[in-house]
Amino acid sequence: MIDQKYHYLLNHADIAFEAPTSGAYIEVKDAANGTSLAWVKQHDRASVEHFILRSEQAQAAFKKFTALQRADILMAWYRLMLDHQEDLAQILTAEQGKPLAEARGEIGSAASFIRWFAEQARRIDGDILPSPQAQQRLLVIKQPIGVTAAITPWNFPAAMITRKIAPAIAAGCSMLIKPAEQTPLSAYALQVLAIQAGLPSDVMITLSGDSVAVGKTLCESDIVRKLTFTGSTEVGRILAEQCAPTIKKLSLELGGNAPVIVFDDANIEQAVKGILASKFRNSGQTCVCANRVYIQEGIYDAVAQRVIEEVNKLKVGDGRIEGTTQGPLVDEAAVAKVESHIQDALAKGATLATGGKRLSESNTFFEPTVLTGVTQEMRVAREETFGPLAPLFSFKTEQDAVQMANDTEFGLAAYLFTQNASRQWRVGEALEYGMVGVNTGMISIEVAPFGGIKQSGLGREGSKYGIDDYLEMKYLCVDLSE
Ligand code: NAP
Repeated sequence: MIDQKYHYLLNHADIAFEAPTSGAYIEVKDAANGTSLAWVKQHDRASVEHFILRSEQAQAAFKKFTALQRADILMAWYRLMLDHQEDLAQILTAEQGKPLAEARGEIGSAASFIRWFAEQARRIDGDILPSPQAQQRLLVIKQPIGVTAAITPWNFPAAMITRKIAPAIAAGCSMLIKPAEQTPLSAYALQVLAIQAGLPSDVMITLSGDSVAVGKTLCESDIVRKLTFTGSTEVGRILAEQCAPTIKKLSLELGGNAPVIVFDDANIEQAVKGILASKFRNSGQTCVCANRVYIQEGIYDAVAQRVIEEVNKLKVGDGRIEGTTQGPLVDEAAVAKVESHIQDALAKGATLATGGKRLSESNTFFEPTVLTGVTQEMRVAREETFGPLAPLFSFKTEQDAVQMANDTEFGLAAYLFTQNASRQWRVGEALEYGMVGVNTGMISIEVAPFGGIKQSGLGREGSKYGIDDYLEMKYLCVDLSE
């Protein structure tokens, strides 16, 4: 059971700390040891429809708040999150499994989106356009879209929510949130703090439940004017289809297959640091995780050796234990996918340099793994592993590297390491990705636009652009003739 000292952050009608004897509930389990943490109410179609109406009512009142009022609420929420950072991180690690240091970092990053959009709330301005007609005045104003809905994944249970709801609130929208089944507690804890910060009730509504039923209800509703989703490309495609009849606005943050290119003029230690940071954060379960590491042949052995040395220093275990750097994988299917990518690569001629297996059949901890001699024919070149597997490919020329890096239907994040300034620009511009890290493996930050191209998604989150997805533009044409 989740420690009683965190119950104050989970003080919500949907949450039970003893196994409920009636009603439909979802059990939330400790990611490291599988014990019960709590139970959350399972909302069905009728219940979701009821909450959509409540969200509509709340938005009708909330849109009348001034930008300053909305900004003040967001700023109060940001401060509360930082005041409770440690407790929020403990809840996050319990349900998600990532090391506490990473969980604290995620809460800080989640809060930073709230602060950023508190600042942006006061900069939603319009335009006055010069008219070709002397008697006309042409104006553009921006208004909130209205009721919005979010469906979020388990890998960042806090940051994926604030990156969506903070711009929604800044714009004057309400939002219904369906968190992932494995990690709903962080969403409820955020809501508890939002209410404390002064957010009117029902402007943020958290709804757990069967994802297919809740998702379909949100997509089919005429009242919900926008859906924002972070998760797999496969589910993104289903949601886009379900939203088509109501022509809902869509933001999709989907899967990736991130390449890292290390040129032979790179600073090797900088590249190794970047590869480790990008590949092994959250045990390889982030959408911007390096999925393919391309190393130019002249420095292949030197980089591979240093990567293996550093990977061997990683420590797998319960995220609450000091020194742990790698938590568990999310479920058995995640373990099976990593295993299948390793088996496929080995069968096609790759070499296992370190790791390669789960720690025990009774849990989902997996050894950080490095494969050398990986080629484009192997599954790992095409599919997102979403686990702690670094496959090392080699390449001869810059042209080859760019061609292999772009040879995928995904286009979220890419990384390159080179000391040559013109190559940084040339390759950075040639990579077909929404985000490119140059000499770094860490690119996510609230001030920059996060998002992908091709089948990695639609729209951008964070940055000055992130609020546009929650606003409608209205053009007013005023004729002054009497
Ligand atoms: P997922 O299976 O697509 O699930 C994401 C969310 O969608 C969860 O809340 C899930 O709910 C829900 N869902 C699943 N099937 C649904 C359906 N038919 N209708 C409505 N909702 C549905 O993805 P995941 O395995 O959790 O996350 C990993 C994927 O997300 C990776 O591909 C990763 O690259 C991507 N990702 C992308 C970004 C980005 O910003 N681009 C960030 C993080 C992750 P339940 O869990 O309750 O079933």
